[in-house]
Amino acid sequence: MMRSAADELRAQRVRIAELEAIIAEPWRGRAPVDLVLHCPNCGKQHLDIGEFERRVHRKHLCEDTPGGPGTGCGHLWKPFEHATRGVLEVILPEES
Ligand SMILES: [Zn+2]
Ligand SMILES: [Zn+2]
Repeated sequence: MMRSAADELRAQRVRIAELEAIIAEPWRGRAPVDLVLHCPNCGKQHLDIGEFERRVHRKHLCEDTPGGPGTGCGHLWKPFEHATRGVLEVILPEES
C-alpha cells in the first residue's frame, strides 16, 4: 500500500510526539520493574493485572481487584521514580 505524503507526515508527527514524551518522562519509554507492592495505607497487596499489566505506570491505586469489591482503600501512591509493576512474586532470571 502506498502512503501519501500527508500520511507520512502524520506518522512522523506521532513518532515525534512519542519521542518528546519519552524525553520529558524517561521512565515511560522503559519497561516497568516487577515488584511485590503493598499499599502503604491499608497493607493490601497491589497486583497489576489485565490492562494494568501492560500499562506502564508509576502511581498505583489501591483498588477493588483482585480481592473483590470493596477491598481497596483508594489510596494513590508512587513507590519509586521509575515505573513499577505489582506482581505476586518477583522472579529473577536464572544466572548463566
Ligand atoms: Zn490500600
Ligand atoms: Zn499499579
